Amino acid sequence: MTLRFDSACTRCLLSECPRSAGMHVCVPGMGPVPSGILAYGEAPGAKEEQEGRPFQGNAGGLLDEVLGMAGLTRDDLYIGSVLRCRPPGNRNPSTDELEACRLYTSRELEAVQPKVIVTLGGVPLKALTGKTAIGENRGKLLPLLPAYRSSVRVIPSYHPASILHQPSIRAVRMQQIADDLKLAKKFTDGGVWDATIVTNPAKVPRALDLLSRCDSLACDLEWEVFPGRKMAWPWSRLDGRTPRLVSFGLAGRVDGRLLSCSFDAEDLSLVNPVRELLLRIPSIYHNAVADVIWLLSRGIHPTIAGDTWILAFLLNIQSSLSLKALAPTLTSVPAGWGDEMGDLLGAVPATPEEWQQTKEYNAKDAVATFLLDEELATRSEGKPFMPLYREVLLPAALRLSEASLAGVPFDVERLHELAAAAQVRIKTLTTRIRDTVGSSRPMDAAYAVERVAGITLPRTEKTERPSISAEALLPYRNRHPLVKDMLTVSKLQKMDGTYLRPWGSLLDEQGDQRLHSIYRLAGPRTGRTAAEQERGGTAQQYPRWQPLRQCLQAPPGWKIISADQSQIELRVGAWVVQERQMLAFFQEER
Ligand code: SF4
Repeated sequence: MTLRFDSACTRCLLSECPRSAGMHVCVPGMGPVPSGILAYGEAPGAKEEQEGRPFQGNAGGLLDEVLGMAGLTRDDLYIGSVLRCRPPGNRNPSTDELEACRLYTSRELEAVQPKVIVTLGGVPLKALTGKTAIGENRGKLLPLLPAYRSSVRVIPSYHPASILHQPSIRAVRMQQIADDLKLAKKFTDGGVWDATIVTNPAKVPRALDLLSRCDSLACDLEWEVFPGRKMAWPWSRLDGRTPRLVSFGLAGRVDGRLLSCSFDAEDLSLVNPVRELLLRIPSIYHNAVADVIWLLSRGIHPTIAGDTWILAFLLNIQSSLSLKALAPTLTSVPAGWGDEMGDLLGAVPATPEEWQQTKEYNAKDAVATFLLDEELATRSEGKPFMPLYREVLLPAALRLSEASLAGVPFDVERLHELAAAAQVRIKTLTTRIRDTVGSSRPMDAAYAVERVAGITLPRTEKTERPSISAEALLPYRNRHPLVKDMLTVSKLQKMDGTYLRPWGSLLDEQGDQRLHSIYRLAGPRTGRTAAEQERGGTAQQYPRWQPLRQCLQAPPGWKIISADQSQIELRVGAWVVQERQMLAFFQEER
């Protein structure tokens, strides 16, 4: 069904663009009304304009294909575009055009009453949520911009036409879009929490008693994240206060039926039995490192039996690796749980109702993790990467959690002295450069370098002006003192912005003289271990700059040993799974 729509709309200048006779000026959305899923593309192209329907031609064919992969047809959803007229030459829509066309999006939202929206491509994602990066936001349920006055959530995905520009990624991209549509389908199909959930503190001891009979337990923790921060860890501080560990969630199969319980993580009468339980019964996590850091900080040393995040990565599942995307796509749990949490996510509950909501959410996370692990374990049976997963990655998750919690010993006073000295040096050199060049504009410095050093710097692609990046200047460092000064300033500014200032403020705040990085075993396509830092660069990529290296200080009785990892993750991985090609590659030291 096509909604009532002004096909001769003149709200933006696109209505004045010349078109061939007989063509439809505005292309409305189409599909059942109401519809649980509303999918938005960018704007009509020539084919859509001719047909007067969204998603025609090659892109339309690809959309039909991915819909089929997700178990959907066009009759199952309403499909439209955030701009309803074709921009000349298929250029990107302007902000004014999108703003003008928002009226019809709002009308469609009102009429279609979707449970969820899927954005196909970057333009609809930006128009509806203000976000720009699809890859970063996949698997998240994003809120609509306030202007839409709707609480419907948005699932970001790619535009099928992106495959036309990069045919080599066809299989992966098709699967990614299909998985995102499957997640949306879960919103309309529903799902079930086929588990007994216990949150009443009086009943938790009995639940723990029953769970003590399980062979494995899924474990999930909720902790406080300070306002405005992305991360929170046991070593984080705000005004001298550490974040609170809010709740523990544990789930397992008792006589074949799923049981999950959640309780206040500061209730020691419950935490103490859990310490014994997790020591004895192997536990499963979604991204073990994060939860285990918190467990270790409370003196709980678990045996990690599964990590659904790593396993999904090894299985090359194309859906986002978040639990909220993976579990509804691959198991029976409903999509969108926790949506109702809003600001309560990462907060310390203040009322009994908020506690109830948080614990229920926590218990459901544990159920989702348990079910996801069961599903992924079935899919992984006999896969060659399983020895790597069990013998290397799971034990490594525990060691990396310990490493994150322990942190790297750091001389903060020396770091501050270094930062102050760097500031003085940057100022002195900048003044000298300005005096030599006779201007403080970087572009004048670039032309001056070319003149005094008798060189031609490479041109930037965008402006076609000389580049003064470190990479461009480095080959000429001995040609003139000005080049050397510019390179030194560039390096010091990088050190200052990436390490000296962020680490200085972080370490001052923490007060424990330790630099903590959080290590990730899944994610990078290279197979290498990645690291994250609350602020600034990570300890894993510690720069070779000697003055900064000297800030690393071994405590009395300890020594710091410096070694090159030399792609150890890949070497060990290749050996464990006997990947012949990679082994030959490493043996030849290529
Ligand atoms: S793009 Fe939208 S606002 Fe602009 S003329 Fe077409 S229908 Fe109207």
